[in-house]
Amino acid sequence: MSITEARLFRKIRKQVGKAIGDFQLIEEGDRIAVAVSGGKDSYTLLHVLDSLRRRAPVRYELIAVNVHPGFPGYDTRALAAHLQEHGFAHRMEQTDCYQIIETKRRPGSSYCAFCARLRRGVLYSVADELGCNKLALGHHLDDFIETLLLNQFFVGTLKAMSPRLLADNGRHTVIRPLVYVEEQDIAAFSQQNNFPLIACACPAGSQGDRNRRRMKNLIQELSVEIPHLRSSLLGALGNIQPRHLLDRRLQDALAAAQPSPEGS
Ligand code: SF4
Repeated sequence: MSITEARLFRKIRKQVGKAIGDFQLIEEGDRIAVAVSGGKDSYTLLHVLDSLRRRAPVRYELIAVNVHPGFPGYDTRALAAHLQEHGFAHRMEQTDCYQIIETKRRPGSSYCAFCARLRRGVLYSVADELGCNKLALGHHLDDFIETLLLNQFFVGTLKAMSPRLLADNGRHTVIRPLVYVEEQDIAAFSQQNNFPLIACACPAGSQGDRNRRRMKNLIQELSVEIPHLRSSLLGALGNIQPRHLLDRRLQDALAAAQPSPEGS
């Protein structure tokens, strides 16, 4: 490993360690299913969590889980070989998500939303089978802020993602340890390590994440003039000022929490 590689690895490991500490992402005895798609983000997540595991003060286990959605052309052999070669416990799950999406999706409804929901459901089931209490996903800093903008631009809500969230089923905690890691560092790390990336073969093609790419381009463009834009947007997510927003539920809650004037 060259000095530059070692430095980048240390940087990412430190950011992941900070996220783990800030949001209590990993605890003693955790058994964590790490979702791996064969893309740069999930390879990075798995390798960094494994490196931290070797020196962590708490004991935890990792099991890499790949969900094959059945998309024609999605070939996971290189991923499986990589997991085998590096000695990662893993599970390769074949599914018929693609067929279900094609036959059951309501006309006009979002392909991505249906696809993501189905695949997440499979991940939960596999995590259950494997006795995992947590599910680690490879969303990084750019995903968080793009989602923040997407929700503001297209949905009209002020929300992004949570680095730690109890799933609706109440059994699994979803964790996103790459929350502080920028995508460009992940791309460089992936390249340095020659991770065998595999094409996702998503049938939605360029339409699937069109708006997300627009947000990505916008952030990229503005970052030329505002170099700290990414960290500022991420910082905003952790620095909410409810009194200066329009959410009436929040306003009511704040008013209710005010001490009543003396003598009234
Ligand atoms: S981009 Fe493709 S693979 Fe990803 S959620 Fe959308 S449809 Fe599924």
